[in-house]
Amino acid sequence: MSTPVTSQPFQAEVKQLLDIVIHSLYTDKEIFVRELVSNASDALEKLRLKQATSQAYYQAEQALEIHLTTDSEANTLTIQDFGIGMNRDELQENLGTIAHSGTKAFLEQLKEKGESNSEVIGQFGVGFYSAFMAGDTVDVYTHSWDESAESLKWSSDGATGYTVEEVPADETARGCRMVIHLTEENKEFSEEERIKSILEKYSNFVAFPILLNGERINTVEAIWLKGKSEVSEEQYEEFYKFIAHAHDKPASTFHFNADAPLNINSVIFVPGANPEQFGMGQTDPGVSLYCRKVLIEDAPKKLLPEWLRFLRGVVDSEDLPLNISRETMQDSQLFQKLGKTITNRFLKHLEKEAKKDEAKHLEFFHKFGRFLKEGIATSFDHKDALAGLLRFESSMTEPGQFTNFNEYLDRSKDDQKEIYYLVGESRKALESSPYLEAFKARNLEVIFFTDNIDNYLFDMLRDFKEKPLVSAAKSNLELDTLEEDANQLSETESNDLIGWLKNRVSDQVSDVKVGKRLVSSPVVALMPDDAPNAQMREMFKAMGQEVPESKVELEINPSHDLIKQLNGIKDEKPELADAVAKQLTGNALLAAGLVDNPQAFVSELNETLGSLLKSS
Ligand code: ADP
Ligand code: MG
Repeated sequence: MSTPVTSQPFQAEVKQLLDIVIHSLYTDKEIFVRELVSNASDALEKLRLKQATSQAYYQAEQALEIHLTTDSEANTLTIQDFGIGMNRDELQENLGTIAHSGTKAFLEQLKEKGESNSEVIGQFGVGFYSAFMAGDTVDVYTHSWDESAESLKWSSDGATGYTVEEVPADETARGCRMVIHLTEENKEFSEEERIKSILEKYSNFVAFPILLNGERINTVEAIWLKGKSEVSEEQYEEFYKFIAHAHDKPASTFHFNADAPLNINSVIFVPGANPEQFGMGQTDPGVSLYCRKVLIEDAPKKLLPEWLRFLRGVVDSEDLPLNISRETMQDSQLFQKLGKTITNRFLKHLEKEAKKDEAKHLEFFHKFGRFLKEGIATSFDHKDALAGLLRFESSMTEPGQFTNFNEYLDRSKDDQKEIYYLVGESRKALESSPYLEAFKARNLEVIFFTDNIDNYLFDMLRDFKEKPLVSAAKSNLELDTLEEDANQLSETESNDLIGWLKNRVSDQVSDVKVGKRLVSSPVVALMPDDAPNAQMREMFKAMGQEVPESKVELEINPSHDLIKQLNGIKDEKPELADAVAKQLTGNALLAAGLVDNPQAFVSELNETLGSLLKSS
């Protein structure tokens, strides 16, 4: 060899930076494989661009591939690419100075010419040095794409400095071959299985073929970087099965590409089934974060809100720095903005799908509606969009038919200021509820909420399109007066009866009033605004907590036969009237689901019946 070995010590700040890279920049050691494969991919991409301009280049026959070889005996890992390679000056400039990124300079050159290239991963000029997290010596054998360049070997211990020497031509091919001499402690990286799992984790979607010990690793395309029209249904399905480890078909596919204000390329799936529905416990989030096809983090917890944990897919943003630690990333504004944008867009996507195909949306809602409700119950952020996606039955739908808030508003009269709802166990229970009568008589629609979680919605979901949501069981509702019944108790009679009743049932209710709302029931128990309803009481009990005490109001129906008869006998048969009054009140509480001790209730009823029989 004519040229001697040249040695170059690292500058002081390079040493410092090396120390940071090796000891604290990356949280996972295995990341170094990702960084070197990304560099190889960048080098191939640069060569591809050179090819496009049809310049003559060295070893034109070499395939644009990345080859990794593990050798556990020699304790080495070798990463070879047939990319652009480096000449002596470039070695010095790119690998000799830290934080000088040749890739960055290359991109700047492109930019000056008015082009940009998103295929290039590296930007930060530190990734290469991560090799020293695992190795104590790294040898780089390289030949530039330029035929006239030398065959070179660069070598360093990653601490003191580096050497460059010319080597025989058969020791290099076009591109770079990096041999990492692993430390004893990092022997694991000379095992094929270990490297295979790292490649599958981080580099599955790299555009150039990656071969490990001769075997192809990456076979799936990064379809999220393509336009919607370029991806077929089958490709989406295949990709879904791959990333979600699923065997079914996705229920919905959301493909989103944007450049500004944030670069986002994303494909997200609603899976075919909701495992939480089958009592499998809480699902883990399943949307992973990529930067230019390279994994940054597998399904980060805070990327999307928790209630979107059922989604599966990929979010890729060029704006994310590749070499950032997870801890700092989760707090970054960019990360949060990404999550918000995706969430908003995904909800718009659902809305669009529902408009196009209500049956499909309904199917989605039956499986995943729980998550939408969780979203409403846990934050204000997306409540309007989420509320629009809810489906429910109502007093104006046939059983099994579903409607939504928008349709409700379309049907309601212009002067109706509120949206009425009832929460209960089932449609059947709600239909026979005394609360419903007043609304039926006035032709007002009442929404039926029959899901356990529905109780939690209304603290957050106070209105829809500026119309307040109001429970039909609320005590101080203002409803139009209906035509009076000629046979009903007069005002004096009613007031008289109320006074009498209050004396008898004041331990059970807070007040007794003449009601406007009843049509076919004699009495109804009404909730004060802050009272827990029947479901809430069940939940308090299930959680072993005491149900907060709150007395209901009793409303009597002055045109009901029972009430009129009660008024008739209250002076002549005080004992019977007394028993009937207590029982009526008990019945109202029972209908409202507020009787906590049915045994006691039944024995009282039996006593009443007994005294009735005796007195007759
Ligand atoms: P970055 O990739 O962010 O630019 P790196 O530290 O990973 O920073 O790499 C530094 C530079 O070394 C790269 O920009 C590139 O110019 C050069 N380089 C690294 N690996 C290769 C390779 N396999 N082939 C050609 N050049 C490379
Ligand atoms: Mg790099």
